[in-house]
Amino acid sequence: MPSYVTHLESAIDGTHLPADCPQSMHKDRPLWVRYDLAAIAKVFKKEMLRDREPTLWRYRELLPVADDQAVVTLGEGMTPLLPCPRLGAKFGLNDVWVKDESQLPTGSFKSRGQALAISMCKQFGIRRVAVPTAGNAGGAMAAYAARAGMEAFVFMPEDTPAINQFECRLSGAKTFLVNGLINDCGRIVREGKERMGWFDISTLKEPYRVEGKKTMGLELAEQLGWTLPDVILYPTGGGTGLIGMWKAFDELEQIGWLPKGGKRPRMVAVQSDGCAPIVTAYDKGERFAELFPNAATIASGLRVPVAVGDFMILDAVRASGGRALAVAERTIRCWMELGMTLEGIAICPETAACIGALDQLAREAWIKPDERVVIFNTGAVQKYPEAMAVDLPKLDKNQPLNWDWIAAGGK
Ligand SMILES: *Cc1c(COP(=O)(O)O)cnc(C)c1O
Repeated sequence: MPSYVTHLESAIDGTHLPADCPQSMHKDRPLWVRYDLAAIAKVFKKEMLRDREPTLWRYRELLPVADDQAVVTLGEGMTPLLPCPRLGAKFGLNDVWVKDESQLPTGSFKSRGQALAISMCKQFGIRRVAVPTAGNAGGAMAAYAARAGMEAFVFMPEDTPAINQFECRLSGAKTFLVNGLINDCGRIVREGKERMGWFDISTLKEPYRVEGKKTMGLELAEQLGWTLPDVILYPTGGGTGLIGMWKAFDELEQIGWLPKGGKRPRMVAVQSDGCAPIVTAYDKGERFAELFPNAATIASGLRVPVAVGDFMILDAVRASGGRALAVAERTIRCWMELGMTLEGIAICPETAACIGALDQLAREAWIKPDERVVIFNTGAVQKYPEAMAVDLPKLDKNQPLNWDWIAAGGK
């Protein structure tokens, strides 16, 4: 299978860079991967998907890997798009869906991005990779690097959820806890580049993780019969998923799989008020975000106080007629429990914030009752034992049973 990549393009000033060698950023800002979409339109037909396996590799023509031997996969399956009538009804909405990314390898959608990033590293012959992480990106990178037989280094804040610490180490990554936030970890990766000779897999500092996350948008369109929802709620940290989906919709229009100039979803970037740099910039009408001070949230994937792709997130949100909004940190746990109780889906704390946003947007009538809403459940709640913890009522096996108390759930 050939690659249809033509070049890389600076997102900040449009400069073209060659795509046949490893690239990082241009003027400290991210690069877009550009394809010959006219050529893809000629050879790639929707009907071809019928015979392809249900993994993100089914969209191979729209992905950058040229060498079949370079594909590193853990079987990144298409994730279910689950109707959520009970959750919708709670907010007076009739068409709410959750795209459940918790079912991907390593339990989060970070696998989509890392599958592509590590495959491209393999294609370029890179043997050593490093990443700063708020948690799941490290776990996914460690797993894919192990799968590819690469040496991996992971740097994470010392209070990163325990599961993320364990999974990185158990996948063989040289893993370190840093007494700081993800941007402090990012500095260590940057400083080590020369001396350690590793390739930096930081969010948006290499161009291919976005291409992996783009497949969320491709899958969503396919699952909805090549239509798009009215609103997408996306828990936003570094923003790769939101940026990637917006790019996916654009490319689908250009290859003629979606109507050109057709209706796009209003993209909602959701954060916690414990770490809301994108929301702050959005509210001020700015294109670039400032470092959010004292970032703290149980939704660890949202604990990104500064994002190199800030303007790409904000551009997409504004172009879509969407919003950026923050949910109160102290309410996240309640939204998580509500989502899990009403639908049985393993709602991670990041996505719980989106349920809070759904409440607010439905109340404001910014979302109308019959509009189609898709919420991305970006990870499995089971990766967050600290955020999940509950106290269960205890039964004494030697005492008579109180059935009324049991019927009440032990309350
Ligand atoms: C990383 C992460 C996010 C944020 O994703 P971005 O695409 O970087 O904004 C949200 N949820 C979970 C579970 C994550 O791991």
